[in-house]
Amino acid sequence: MIRAKTPAVGKDVDDFCTKCKMLLNHVVVAKVGETIKRVKCLTCNTEHAYRGEKPKAETTTRKAAKPSAATVKASDYDTLMKGRDLSRAKKYKPAVVFEKNDVIDHPKFGMGLVLGDKDGSKIDVAFSDGVKTLVHNIG
Ligand SMILES: [Zn+2]
Repeated sequence: MIRAKTPAVGKDVDDFCTKCKMLLNHVVVAKVGETIKRVKCLTCNTEHAYRGEKPKAETTTRKAAKPSAATVKASDYDTLMKGRDLSRAKKYKPAVVFEKNDVIDHPKFGMGLVLGDKDGSKIDVAFSDGVKTLVHNIG
């Protein structure tokens, strides 16, 4: 019996989004007792079954995982952010269009710098804990 209290329906919860392929902020849509059953991704608005915080594949392959070429170290992040005007940071929302070198103010990851656009709908953004791929220019 799991006694841990889970977020209520309508509250935020972290889950792995099957569409964004990232651990993202979701909102709880349905619960059975303390078990979260369905969540909705706040980034792409897709509703899906709650998977729990970590995808299983990542746990088992964690040791073998190599850092990708895009991985930004904390020291690189500091260099990237140096001299940036944080007061001009754009609040992150999936509908907003971001361009290379835009400073992003993300509710979860904090301040980040756009490294580049991938295909018109996804951007790579350097945050203090690494590079994240975010959706943009949707809706
Ligand atoms: Zn999503």
